[in-house]
Amino acid sequence: MSQVVKFYSEDLYLRVSAVKSTDIVREISKVQKMGPLASLTCGRVITGAVLMAANMRDRQSIGIHFKGDGALGSIYAEASFDGEARGWCDIPSADLPLKSGHFDIASAVGQGFIHIIRSQPFEKAPHVSSVSIQSGLIGDDLAYYLHQSLQVPSIVALGGITNEIGEVLECGGVIIELMPGAPESLIDTLEKNVSQSKPFGSLLSGGLSIADIVKNYLGNIKLIENFHEHEFSFRCKCSESRVARSLTMIGREALDEMIDENKTFEITCEFCSKLYLIDVETLKGIRAELNVVN
Ligand SMILES: [Zn+2]
Repeated sequence: MSQVVKFYSEDLYLRVSAVKSTDIVREISKVQKMGPLASLTCGRVITGAVLMAANMRDRQSIGIHFKGDGALGSIYAEASFDGEARGWCDIPSADLPLKSGHFDIASAVGQGFIHIIRSQPFEKAPHVSSVSIQSGLIGDDLAYYLHQSLQVPSIVALGGITNEIGEVLECGGVIIELMPGAPESLIDTLEKNVSQSKPFGSLLSGGLSIADIVKNYLGNIKLIENFHEHEFSFRCKCSESRVARSLTMIGREALDEMIDENKTFEITCEFCSKLYLIDVETLKGIRAELNVVN
């Protein structure tokens, strides 16, 4: 369970959401047997999704898809306002040499696009916006998205640390958003404060609480905590029928080939690694549904 804490600045120019997401990221990393590079990189994306979901409304959710050409392949995380979070990457065991003593997150992500998928209840199709990957360090990229797509200037600081065998020791993040009417120069002050601080993971492992880190970033700006509890945890909503439904996406030809093989297929949920057995009768049912639809 990870709790998102929220603050406002006294002058209402800033809105802050922060979370220590260690529990969620550690569990996802374990379930998917991620190496340290994947844990730290996906950890940032998952934490970003949790923070952005916490700023949404009841029953809304967000998916963040980094589609880059880096060592991890595609990276995806989603979180709902109701407190569910999950994620995956294509190559969880990918490894890269350290760069100046640090994990090379930028090369793990690579160049490409970020697709942000916002879903609301009662809307038929989700709203998707895409921006190009900037630094690949995730935080900067999400700040770029918030500015480009939602016209919200922000600071997004994300990070974590693992031990030598890749177990997640700490993970967390902060999003500081400028509210309408705030002087844009505030961003420069905040950027300076963040760049002069240690990396996020080091602050957490140094024993600072999330609230301490936020206060550290905000310097002299007076904060008011919003004591609304908002908890998130790793949960996967997969089921046999959802897995079967996802097979409609592969198309008729691929389904026909599977049916011709006349065997039971093992399909693993990419989020939680749960194994589903789909037999040929189920496949025929999915195939028949495709005929009805088209
Ligand atoms: Zn699942």
